[in-house]
Amino acid sequence: MTDSLKELYQEVILDHSKAPRNFGRPESCSHEAHGYNPLCGDTINIYLTLSDDRHVEGLSFDGKGCAISVASASLMTEILKNKTEDEAKSLFNQFHKLVTGESDELDAGEDTERLMVLAGVKQFPMRVKCATLSWHALNSALDGTSDVTTE
Ligand code: ZN
Repeated sequence: MTDSLKELYQEVILDHSKAPRNFGRPESCSHEAHGYNPLCGDTINIYLTLSDDRHVEGLSFDGKGCAISVASASLMTEILKNKTEDEAKSLFNQFHKLVTGESDELDAGEDTERLMVLAGVKQFPMRVKCATLSWHALNSALDGTSDVTTE
């Protein structure tokens, strides 16, 4: 990766952690889950509304965490909007492989490519749990279990 690309990625992460998108608890949602990463102290709550045909109609989050966990949650809420439940689960698997270094690529649509900004965490195993926390929480919201911890 070139230095300028690295810088760009860091900027995106900083931007999303300072000004997270879709932050806050909505008045109502169909699914919610709470994620906790004891290694870092990150706490992320996911609020999801699925439509009758299992599309992501609404997705937001709140909580407190490090820059990586908040930026990852913020990006996730933007990217999964209007995706189907199956697409969301498939992206979770791909994202997991990306940040654990199992794979270098995503089945990219133009928007999912933005998740590449978090690929750098694979060099920092402690940070992988920060980056995947919101995704684990989303997954448990979809599965109907409401609490998840990365341990
Ligand atoms: Zn963290």
